[in-house]
Amino acid sequence: MHPDLSSPKKTIINFLKPFIKKYDYLVLSNKNYKESFSWLEKTKIKFIYPAIDPLSRKNLTIDPLTARRILEQFNINFLNPLLLQVSRFDKWKDPLGALKAYYIAKNKMPNLQFVLAGFFFAQDDPEAKAIFSTVEKHAKGDPDVFLFANPKRLQKIDNELFINALYTSSDVVIQKSIKEGFGLTVTEAMWKEKPVIAGRTDGTSLQIKNNKNGILIDTAEEAGNIIVKLFKNEKLRRKLGKAAKESVKEKFLFSRFLLENIKLYK
Ligand code: UDP
Repeated sequence: MHPDLSSPKKTIINFLKPFIKKYDYLVLSNKNYKESFSWLEKTKIKFIYPAIDPLSRKNLTIDPLTARRILEQFNINFLNPLLLQVSRFDKWKDPLGALKAYYIAKNKMPNLQFVLAGFFFAQDDPEAKAIFSTVEKHAKGDPDVFLFANPKRLQKIDNELFINALYTSSDVVIQKSIKEGFGLTVTEAMWKEKPVIAGRTDGTSLQIKNNKNGILIDTAEEAGNIIVKLFKNEKLRRKLGKAAKESVKEKFLFSRFLLENIKLYK
């Protein structure tokens, strides 16, 4: 987890202060977060960007046919366009905003499908169930909206493989977050060469250069219009996707993360 530390609660930082002070270094994922630790010597703060493991089951390239077979078990139609958001049912991930963007696009693209995958694996996420219910209510039984929250639904399919199949089969990925410390889901989708539309946050802005390797948005309306624009323009989707993969290769793979950690420990 990479929490957004742009405006942390003072009480929590104060509680953590004595613990943090005991360590040799504090590693932050974003330079913008150093303000919250002004009481720590500058030399004790290091910055290491998070990364993904390209060899994990989630991030390895899989055959599109394998991906399609997995998703067909859940009635997702590979012939129709697919929009995806992978994230916990959390207010800062703004699943309702993502759903709103989908409905704006759906008005112009009646066959659009939307998958929202946020399995309840974490036991420390009490709000997730309530948020899930609200999203479910707003989707009103729309057969083109697929909500995944209960891990039991996967039966024998491994979560990592399922998420991989979703990324592989989707045409556009949205991450409508309002707050995002980094956003590994953005990295994962970019690694899969997908055009990503992400809420403008500290974490997503670190990864996406607007209109170059993805698109940053501020509102659901904006996201909805961009979804339509992207679906109309395959060339643009490909261009953004290719640039996205290149940028992950350059900056956000595990090899670089490992090297920086080794240097720090040395
Ligand atoms: N994830 C998953 N299954 C889900 C939802 C999320 O495996 O149903 C994974 C996702 O692929 C990513 C991580 O959980 O690797 C979420 O990381 P991120 O930095 O995007 O958000 P966080 O949940 O840490 O705020």
